[in-house]
Amino acid sequence: METQCCIAGGGPAGMMLGYLLARAGVDVVVLEKHADFLRDFRGDTVHPSTLQVMADLGLLDEFLKLPHSRIDHLDGWFGEDRIHIADFSRLNTVCPYIALMPQWDFLNFLVEKGRAFKSLHVLMSTKVTDLVRENDRVVGVKAISQTGEMEIRAQLTVGADGRHSTVRAAAQLAVQDVGSAIDVLWFRIGRDPNADAQDFGHIKKDHMLISIDRDTYWQCAYVIRKGDAEKVKAQGIEAFRQSVVDTDPALAGNISDLQSFDDVKLLTVGIDRLNHWSIPGLLCIGDAAHTMSPVGGVGINLALQDAVATANLLAEKLRSGTLSDADVEAVQRRREWPARAVQAVQRLAHHNLLEKAIRGEITRAPLFARVLSRSPWLQGRLAAFIGLGVRQERVSSPRHF
Ligand SMILES: Cc1cc2nc3c(=O)[nH]c(=O)nc-3n(C[C@H](O)[C@H](O)[C@H](O)COP(=O)(O)OP(=O)(O)OC[C@H]3O[C@@H](n4cnc5c(N)ncnc54)[C@H](O)[C@@H]3O)c2cc1C
Repeated sequence: METQCCIAGGGPAGMMLGYLLARAGVDVVVLEKHADFLRDFRGDTVHPSTLQVMADLGLLDEFLKLPHSRIDHLDGWFGEDRIHIADFSRLNTVCPYIALMPQWDFLNFLVEKGRAFKSLHVLMSTKVTDLVRENDRVVGVKAISQTGEMEIRAQLTVGADGRHSTVRAAAQLAVQDVGSAIDVLWFRIGRDPNADAQDFGHIKKDHMLISIDRDTYWQCAYVIRKGDAEKVKAQGIEAFRQSVVDTDPALAGNISDLQSFDDVKLLTVGIDRLNHWSIPGLLCIGDAAHTMSPVGGVGINLALQDAVATANLLAEKLRSGTLSDADVEAVQRRREWPARAVQAVQRLAHHNLLEKAIRGEITRAPLFARVLSRSPWLQGRLAAFIGLGVRQERVSSPRHF
């Protein structure tokens, strides 16, 4: 198979890039190893910057008809201190809130809308296994599907295959580990849809719990020390349930939803980034270029912004067959510092908040949190950082059809 751009991975970065390139008249193949997008725990946050992208594409009204809930502010508890963290309603953007929507709905929507473009080919159940090289250039990928092995040749190959990227490993791109001392246990607890909206984060004794309102359930993240999952499990499910309820009593009513540790998934948290996002013929974006911690729920946002920037910079050149290696390198120059800035803040939050919280060193709100809580302006700035990112990308790639 031959195409202009072959994208490994149909996550937020890969599907958005596929959509944008096809919209710009580029022939593009997206390879996704799973048969569908129905996988849990990949984050369900659609940020204001992404909603702005949907508006840029003329898709917003239809997109917002999909079932979703909205968060316009974040509050949390440090022991007995209630802290206002971020206020999205202060943002000057088309949708000043985070929309919570299952990620499979978002990705299915993009695939559905992408059917309008004949040059978009999404191959599900197709796993990239290796790169194809010729004369020190990447000229495509090897992949395997239910019908057997295949080779897809492309002017540009994009690794958008996430934090365990096969592409970046095959390209032997050097990875810089920024480090993380935490892991997260993820689970759901039933919620009465008529219940009052609840606070977002709780830090108590040596626990930290984030509960995200998903209408009929709470998506909960219980922060533990890296490597402590087995220790938590050894204490038994009843001790774990008790700890969850002690941290957030509002979860007591449906805590029996946690029947065993089969209902609890471990997320091994990592923060890393590539030194070089590209080599001749290949570019990595999204988590494949910079794996993000779940802190701030910004990984999807950054991955999508990478896709928008890549299409803005490369679509026309790919379409006209004039793409150079220097054009591809420009993507890293544009997107590396936003990723680095967010990772630096995530690292600070890990070090000064999460790691201290799980060591039991935080009993009340630290000074910075109290200052933040008293300043609506700062809450607006933090909302802008989380919701729009440090360099907001707007769609400027052309529409050709
Ligand atoms: C438990 C958890 C919770 C999270 N919560 C949030 C949140 O609330 N908000 C947020 O913004 N971020 C969250 N994140 C981070 C977020 O999921 C990532 O930053 C974001 O999904 C990155 O997007 P991506 O498209 O680069 O990669 P991914 O979303 O990882 O997508 C990569 C895709 O490539 C496919 N793939 C992988 N290997 C291959 C292969 N060899 N061949 C073909 N296809 C392949 C995968 O199946 C996947 O569909 C969370 C992450 C985890 C793990």
